[in-house]
Order: sequence, then structure tokens, then C-alpha cells
Amino acid sequence: MTARRLDGARVGKEIRAEIRADVEVLREKGIVPGLAAVLVGNDPASDIYVRSKVRACAEAGLFSETLRFPAELTHAALLSEVDRLNEKADIDGILIQLPLPAHIDAPRVLSRVRPDKDVDGFHPENVGRLVQGQPTLVPCTPAGVLELLRREKVTLEGKRAVVLGRSDIVGKPMALLLLHQNATVTICHSRTRDLAEVTAEADVLVAAIGRPALVRRAFIKPGAVVVDVGMNRLDGPDAVRECFGDDPGRWADLERKGYTLVGDVHPREADEVASALTPVPGGVGPLTIAMLLSNTVKAARLRREATN
Ligand code: NAP
Repeated sequence: MTARRLDGARVGKEIRAEIRADVEVLREKGIVPGLAAVLVGNDPASDIYVRSKVRACAEAGLFSETLRFPAELTHAALLSEVDRLNEKADIDGILIQLPLPAHIDAPRVLSRVRPDKDVDGFHPENVGRLVQGQPTLVPCTPAGVLELLRREKVTLEGKRAVVLGRSDIVGKPMALLLLHQNATVTICHSRTRDLAEVTAEADVLVAAIGRPALVRRAFIKPGAVVVDVGMNRLDGPDAVRECFGDDPGRWADLERKGYTLVGDVHPREADEVASALTPVPGGVGPLTIAMLLSNTVKAARLRREATN
């Protein structure tokens, strides 16, 4: 079997075009949704993520600003920056790029963001609303996965769903979203026993663990839908061959950039056993950015229409 490709790049583009149209309508009413991205320190990967988010904002007609601070920024100074953005009228969404430097208490900073500007959906109030199934700002990656499954017409009602990973950013909210769609949900993590046996029961398997190609053939029920959230760098020829065989694109990546990306799922083995699969890259990543824009527009609408 060759798995159907769940094309996140195409769906992400579709969503961004819809957002652009929504933003035009808001602009006619004098509302330009605005996102502030806060970056502390010099992590190159974070820098790339923030740049691509800011570029996507500009393409969709949103206003955005990036605030860059040195790694030595004090905790108090970061909190007062968040307070300033909380009060800033033209900012609808505040994104604190993770990871923050070790001396910063990340949960405290994330909880300082006003819940109605919390476009990452990390504030405890928004998490609570998600648990209760109330409308809220939902973390972008799991929201994107759900949107991808919806648009690709993958039904969830009554299905066995397994979420591999229990982070606050991906695994836990993902499990809640699947539960609210009436899937029967199991969450696995690093202490789960007989992992492959549990995941092999899934009709829908979402892998978010940050372990390159850990999910092998035996982890996957034949015909399952597999969503690979992982994004890991492979920088050695043996690992590239193991995951991608002779795929010329991957060898060209290795040559040009020194690495190629792989998810948490073994791509060739999953391709043979799953009925549908998200590629890496071009699967979940583009949806994450699309949902960030979507959350920012939603936040703008709710806050500004409430105050007008
Ligand atoms: P994380 O915070 O490091 O959490 C990883 C989770 O996986 C933890 O719950 C951990 O279990 C579990 N885990 C780790 N090793 C495991 C193993 N061998 N067996 C079973 N479970 C294991 O990671 P995250 O932030 O959720 O991200 C997960 C992956 O998604 C990463 O590759 C990240 O780069 C990627 N990601 C992609 C996007 C995107 O837009 N495409 C967005 C966010 C994240 P414990 O809780 O027991 O430690």
C-alpha cells in the first residue's frame, strides 16, 4: 500500500488565502489584526520560526512586530514587556517564542499574557476552556492537525485515536481536541509500556515526541491515518539512507544544508502500512503557522468587536 498524502502545504495555503480575505473585510472596518512576536536570546531555530511567522503575517495582510531581547533579559523586564503588549491597542496576539532562557520562569510569563491575546492558547484560562469544550484560542499545532483531518475528510467519531506525546503544547491539547470530536483517545508517553502494541490499536495515530523515525511499521495498524508532528534533523548518511533510501531530494538536502528533516514516524515503513500520512516537511508545519494567523484574526475580532 502507498499511503495517501495529507498535504499540509496545500491546505495551509488554502487557509491562508481564506484568512487574507477575512483580513480585507476587517481592514475595511478599520481593523488591522496585529501580532507581536517576542524572542529572547539567540536560538537560530527560534529565529527561523519567528521570521517565517512574521512573513506569513505580512502575506495575509496582518500587522506584526518582532521584539528581540538578549538572553540576559531579566525576568522582571520580560514581564513588564508582556504587560506593555497586553495594553497595546494595535496588538491582538502575543507570541512568546519558546524555549525561553533557563533563568526565565516560562509558565509564569505565558500566564502573564492576557487570555484574549493568547494566540498560542497556553494561558491556564484558555487551557481550562479547552478542557471544558468551550470556544477558546486553541494551541496552533493541534488545532492545525484537527483542521487538516477535517479538510481531508478523515472522520473521527467513534475511532480509536492514539496520541504519542503528552506535552502541553501538542500532545495534551491534541488529545482533548480528538476527544471533543468523539474519538476514543489514548495518550502515550515515555513511560508507556508495550508502546507499539498500544499505538497499533489506533485508527488515527498522532506522533509528537521529537524522536526521529521512532514509529516503525509494527507501531501502525494497517490502514491507519498517521499524523507526524515531529520535526527532527538527520545529519548523517546512514540515518538518511535508513529513513529515505536513495531519495535524491533527501541526499541533495544533506549535501546543501548538512541535514534533512524527518518526523517521529519512519517515512518509508509508514508509507507501506498506513492509509494516509502527513509528510515531513509539508505536513503539520504549514498548518501551525496558518492557525497562528487564524487565532490572531479571531482574537482581533473578539476583542475589538467587544470594545467597539
Ligand atoms: P516535548 O515537549 O519534548 O514532549 C515530547 C513528548 O514525547 C513527552 O510527552 C515525552 O514523554 C514523549 N516521549 C519522548 N520520547 C518518547 C519515547 N521514546 N516514547 C514515548 N514517548 C516519548 O515535545 P513537543 O513540544 O510536544 O514536540 C514534539 C515534536 O513535535 C518535536 O519533534 C517538535 O519539533 C515537533 N513540533 C512540531 C511542530 C510543527 O509545527 N510541525 C510544532 C510543535 C512541535 P514524557 O512526558 O514521559 O517525557
